[in-house]
Amino acid sequence: MIYLDYSATTPVDARVVDAMTPFFNASFGNPSSVHRLGQIAEAAIDSARESVARVLNCKPDEIIFTSCGSESDNLAIRGAAYAMREKTGAKWILASRAEHPAVTKTLEHLGKHEGFLVEWLDVDERGRVTPETVAKAICGDTAIVSVMYANNEIGTINPIKEIAEICRANKIVFHTDAVQAAAYLPIDVNDLGVDLMSLGAHKFYGPKGVGVLYVRKGTPLVSQLTGGGQEFNLRAGTQNVPYIVGFAEALRLTAEERARRVAHVQPLRDRIIGAVLESIPDSQLTGDLESRLPHHVSFAFKGVDGNLLLTLLDAAGFACSSGSACKTGNPEPSDVMNAIGLSREWGLGSLRVTLGKDTMPEHVESFLNSLPALVEKARALR
Ligand SMILES: *Cc1c(COP(=O)(O)O)cnc(C)c1O
Repeated sequence: MIYLDYSATTPVDARVVDAMTPFFNASFGNPSSVHRLGQIAEAAIDSARESVARVLNCKPDEIIFTSCGSESDNLAIRGAAYAMREKTGAKWILASRAEHPAVTKTLEHLGKHEGFLVEWLDVDERGRVTPETVAKAICGDTAIVSVMYANNEIGTINPIKEIAEICRANKIVFHTDAVQAAAYLPIDVNDLGVDLMSLGAHKFYGPKGVGVLYVRKGTPLVSQLTGGGQEFNLRAGTQNVPYIVGFAEALRLTAEERARRVAHVQPLRDRIIGAVLESIPDSQLTGDLESRLPHHVSFAFKGVDGNLLLTLLDAAGFACSSGSACKTGNPEPSDVMNAIGLSREWGLGSLRVTLGKDTMPEHVESFLNSLPALVEKARALR
């Protein structure tokens, strides 16, 4: 099997596994315990927090460990929505139409059950939220703006810094979902100017089931998981020590090796884009050519059932995706395909190919040799 689905998840780096292992067994203490085994676990969490803070260029107590990227998105949006409404009465939340379901479903929930008002920001045909769109949409009653750093389905990178500046000038809390971006883009929170930022380890060679929410000091936030006082009273529950250690090590390695990883995947990405557009009729790149994650390729093929194409690719030995990793069995184009204005005829035929550390040029060539016939087959079978 040739794995070309690194945006869905990545294998855990062996160095990360090594860092985690002692905390399952030898040093298994509860970090809240007073005795020495507890202190060892607590020290491991403290040093993981410091390590993450160094990469993000923030203070350790601005890092909240969570159970995944989705939980970080939930804590950010729900937590800031409640807090801002209490503080200022504001109840509008603005978010782009191309956000991950962890954001869109959370907002729908807040709108339906909690009395918040949601405004969806349009994206351009490349999936970008422009600073002008945000500037036009905000008003005195806006509590939060949430715009993802980079899109998981089409790889588009948003102008986060410019959007953050607009929010700051208007005293609006700005959250960015950086779960997809963190593997390849700089995530210095002071340079970006964000108030809240979500991360998840399994997108950058860490384990599944652990995330981080960065919370800028002074950002109003109400805890969503109540109980013990862990994580500065913002997220109850005994910390998952080995996974937190794994998160920190995976992020540290990602920051250290970022330039090398980008240099490895980007030429392979560009080779795929050029070859596919040339060899397959009625194909188009989705997302932006320049403002794009370096490991991310996505296409739309006219008159193709994307799920069928994935099945054919799977049978031929290639693991790809049609956008979001969720298998819904729903034969409608994704929200992102609709948001960028693709017709049904094109939007149903989406394909995402995402590369990683272990992707070799021969894997790419093998994929490029197989794809045109499989697209033809999918068209014929439709
Ligand atoms: C994967 C992903 C998430 C969800 O992260 P989990 O850790 O799987 O919950 C959220 N947002 C984006 C952009 C993602 O790519």
